[in-house]
Amino acid sequence: MFLKRLEVMGFKSFADRIGIDFVPGVTAVVGPNGSGKSNVTDAIRWVLGEQSAKSLRGAKMEDVIFAGSDSRKPLNFAEVTLVLDNTDGRVPLDYSEVSVTRRVFRSGESAYLLNKQNCRLKDITDLFMDSGLGKEAFSIISQGRVDEILNSKAEERRSIFEEAAGVLKYKQRKKKAEVK
Ligand code: ATP
Ligand code: MG
Repeated sequence: MFLKRLEVMGFKSFADRIGIDFVPGVTAVVGPNGSGKSNVTDAIRWVLGEQSAKSLRGAKMEDVIFAGSDSRKPLNFAEVTLVLDNTDGRVPLDYSEVSVTRRVFRSGESAYLLNKQNCRLKDITDLFMDSGLGKEAFSIISQGRVDEILNSKAEERRSIFEEAAGVLKYKQRKKKAEVK
């Protein structure tokens, strides 16, 4: 499984629709301070269901929508699509390519889509849990997270390994079953 393409429109500093094609291997995003490098990873976490505006470096969710600049009016919605190559079937869906889209309007209305079909956030979180690509999965390690991982208690660190090993899904199901 690898991230094949990212399409962003109206998200943070990306007013125009842009597409980034990734190839297997290492990709480095370089650019001056404030040019939008971190906004690229914010877009990936957001489309995977990040609910915390603070963790996306904003005060409220609306802050992810392009707020306008000297020469451009603010936009009314933000949309991000992530396309994954799933030829190895790591994402349990019978498709060699899986796309996830999230859209939000200033009015607060929002939508999630899986392969262009409307779905719930839960469908996305369930699908990616244990694939290593969840919004809090080990595949995205932000600047602050490095210190956090190094300084965390053994039990907290364990959850990172559990996600990597693919047992988190079963633990959560067990917990859910116990509550019922
Ligand atoms: P650094 O090298 O300092 O880490 P960076 O390349 O990671 O910088 P980002 O943090 O991704 O930069 O981008 C910050 C820019 O995004 C700022 O110029 C900020 O004004 C812009 N930005 C963030 N949210 C919005 C928004 N909603 N609308 C318009 N621009 C936004
Ligand atoms: Mg940055």
